[in-house]
Amino acid sequence: MDRYTKYDEYKNADIIGIDSEDLQINLEYKDFNKVTNSLNRLAAYEDTGLTPEKITGLKDYKIRYLELEERYKESLKEADMLESENKKLSEKQVPKRATIGPIPGYEHYTSMLLYTCPVCHSVLGDNGSGYCRFCGQKLKGDSE
Ligand SMILES: [Zn+2]
Repeated sequence: MDRYTKYDEYKNADIIGIDSEDLQINLEYKDFNKVTNSLNRLAAYEDTGLTPEKITGLKDYKIRYLELEERYKESLKEADMLESENKKLSEKQVPKRATIGPIPGYEHYTSMLLYTCPVCHSVLGDNGSGYCRFCGQKLKGDSE
């Protein structure tokens, strides 16, 4: 791609083939600054070496990239949640002995001793073996 600009010794862009001193003499100071700023932007674009079509394509590519990056981050979060859930489930597979004692809050009824889950403290209807039906904790019965 042919360039329209080149940089001067102050790293400002000039139009190739146009004497910038002529421009400076013929333009008001603020208008000359506008021309310089515009030329610097054009030169920055030319520095990319890309055509407008390629830049548009890159914009689409970037949008697609950001969408994929977002999905990737969501997947990582999901994987973390699954791992944490998996860890909790694994921990529940390690049998714990059910607690036997009075029903919490009804301690004065000493004759009513029941098994309770050591994790969620729910009252277990059976002998405290198997799994807690409330939280899934594996339980170790008295005979185990
Ligand atoms: Zn439980």
